[in-house]
Amino acid sequence: MFTSPPDEFHVYDTTLRDGSQREGISLSVNDKLAIARHLDDLGVGFIEGGWPGANPKDAEFFRRARTELSLRTAQLAAFGSTRRPHGDAAADLAHLRESGAGIVTLVAKADVRHVERALRTTRRENLAMIRDSVLHLRGEGQRVFLDAEHFFDGYATDRAYALEVLRVAAEAGADVLVLCDTNGGMLPTQLADVVAAVVADGLRIGIHAHDDTSCAVANSLAAIDSGATHVQGTANGYGERSGNANLFSVVAALETKLGRQVLPPGRLVELGRVSHAVAELANIAPDPHQPWVGSSAFAHKAGLHVSAIKADPDLYQHIDPAVVGNDMRLLVSELAGRATIELKGRALGLEPDRDTVARVIDRVKDLESVGYSFEAAEASFELLLRAEMGQRPRYFELESWRVIVDSRPTDGGVVSEATVKLHAKGERIVATGEGNGPVNALDTALRLALHQRYPELARMDLVDYKVRIVSGAHGTEAVTRVMVQTSDGSTQWDTVGVHENVIAASWQALEEAYTSGLLRQGVQADR
Ligand SMILES: [Zn+2]
Repeated sequence: MFTSPPDEFHVYDTTLRDGSQREGISLSVNDKLAIARHLDDLGVGFIEGGWPGANPKDAEFFRRARTELSLRTAQLAAFGSTRRPHGDAAADLAHLRESGAGIVTLVAKADVRHVERALRTTRRENLAMIRDSVLHLRGEGQRVFLDAEHFFDGYATDRAYALEVLRVAAEAGADVLVLCDTNGGMLPTQLADVVAAVVADGLRIGIHAHDDTSCAVANSLAAIDSGATHVQGTANGYGERSGNANLFSVVAALETKLGRQVLPPGRLVELGRVSHAVAELANIAPDPHQPWVGSSAFAHKAGLHVSAIKADPDLYQHIDPAVVGNDMRLLVSELAGRATIELKGRALGLEPDRDTVARVIDRVKDLESVGYSFEAAEASFELLLRAEMGQRPRYFELESWRVIVDSRPTDGGVVSEATVKLHAKGERIVATGEGNGPVNALDTALRLALHQRYPELARMDLVDYKVRIVSGAHGTEAVTRVMVQTSDGSTQWDTVGVHENVIAASWQALEEAYTSGLLRQGVQADR
């Protein structure tokens, strides 16, 4: 098994830090842990977990990552800035040491104008800050990558100083010098020339590109072509302003077009799934037209060359979409779908036969056409697969639920009350719960109804709840998709519900959340 990434080429993901700067993204620590797991499935070499010194949530991420994340491939990196002007490296960088990350990506000013006008210090002190910080972290046993911020602008303004920044960091022990197009204004040919000139000095170079000219992916590939051996980017290109380099596009191009295996063998096929799962966790609708992974990326308009496409699909597509976990939409995607479902079944310890797999494919297609999404709701997928195999446990059977929302104009309060009627272990149970919202009330009532029969529920908590309006297929009414994440303190699982009514969608997701939780704890169903 592939255990550690080769060091010759670094695929470095910064979704959790730079990507989360995108307007509208707000990732909880649970989201971040879940995204890290998906990125690890894809096989990126490095995951930048955040900036523990600037953000308490990121410090918590690193704390929890130590016990809750077991990464197969990726290593975690913490992001931070150099010590303050005239500061003390040991004190200023304590949070990076405490993060426990084996790698620190240290951001430093490489543009003299930023040194003087933004940092308000001298050229000399900036170099001392870089030297001291790198030496200190190396002394603590951490590996250091240097993000040379505004490098390309700095190189244009004062080439000697920009290069001096790299040299000082390298001499102090930084492994990789990452040239950042922080303002994202570069174009591929000019950028390639600069990278080639710097690589010629014998330094190990990385690239960090922003997409303000729509060239972040092209710039990253141009830099790699010029000798960069470390590329930073984000899932789906998320990032502030126009975004960062889309790491998925970079990786797909390197592997399929340039013959460079930068992921562990067999992982590129995860690209589509991971892209969609991260989008779900970030609560951003996946872009159907996103290159490589979008659902339309290999779709062909019906009527146009259909027979020719069927006869020889390669005539109409730049790669075989199955390679990146996508499929051509005109044709039945039996093969891709079948392989994925067999793989997932095996991962769950289930061995669905051919007929079952075919039924599951149909079922998933039907459900996805009415708004379900299983890419980020693997627990719901498992229940679906088990249902088709006749192995879905029924811990309880719903008779009905009802929710009342009470508004009290006297004090402005709004209270929700839910009643659940169900059957479990041969008994009929009626329970009523209150909550600050209808879903919360429903959850309370369901737990009240079940807690005596299933004390294991006490260990489970809903840790995340996301609602999205999705437009139905074929011009039908829009529906609500609810994603629920549940935790038992050490693991999390995700479930999905879809309905025109948000409470009904929530009920489905809740019912599956607890069913899946009990199943995970090995609880026997009464039938
Ligand atoms: Zn950036």
